[in-house]
Amino acid sequence: MSSRLLPVDATAVLAPRVDGDDVETLGVDLGLKRLFVGAPPSTSEEIEPSYTVEGEYVRALYDELSATVRRLQATPGDTTTAEAEAFVVYEDSICAAFDRALAEFLAFVDRVDPDVVGVEDLAHNRRPLHECRDGSVEVGTWALPVIRDRLVDALEATGYAVAMVDPAGTTRDCHACGEAGERRNSTLVCETDSCPIDEVDRDESAAATIAQRAVTTTDRDASL
Ligand SMILES: [Zn+2]
Repeated sequence: MSSRLLPVDATAVLAPRVDGDDVETLGVDLGLKRLFVGAPPSTSEEIEPSYTVEGEYVRALYDELSATVRRLQATPGDTTTAEAEAFVVYEDSICAAFDRALAEFLAFVDRVDPDVVGVEDLAHNRRPLHECRDGSVEVGTWALPVIRDRLVDALEATGYAVAMVDPAGTTRDCHACGEAGERRNSTLVCETDSCPIDEVDRDESAAATIAQRAVTTTDRDASL
């Protein structure tokens, strides 16, 4: 909790608000383990305000779909139609889960009320979910462009400016010094002597780097 004293206006109905009222840019890291991680362009140890929407429910649905398809394939006879139906049903359920996660994340974005939101310009060519069934196409190849497109559409529909940024190195490089860190499970360890970061949440660090790139992209566009 911040010990900073905020001016109190007893007549105002205060909306719940996250610390860091002066944040103007947010970066969003997308993934399957954690669907959305939002953070400002921090270069310090403190990455606030940040917010994470976990992806367990979506992964559980995908695991269930995989198990269902495996069971069908182990059944005698032609199960092509049944498999296709399973994909349709689970794709709908997974997309509904994306939308619930997105609504939760957008509530955070609204509390921060940034001028610009940086989103990873993922290079994935979107592939149909059913192509993931034999393992040759990773589920993220389907899922990440889906959540990116839903996020960008929702942000733009709400009136936020979106900056698409290059995601290269964002989960590998320290958000403070930009050097490659050592990845340990969900954290990133920075060994640069002059850097204030020792160990940081990797997704939050990535979101902060994405926010920094969004600031750069926006500044560059404004000067054109
Ligand atoms: Zn560093």
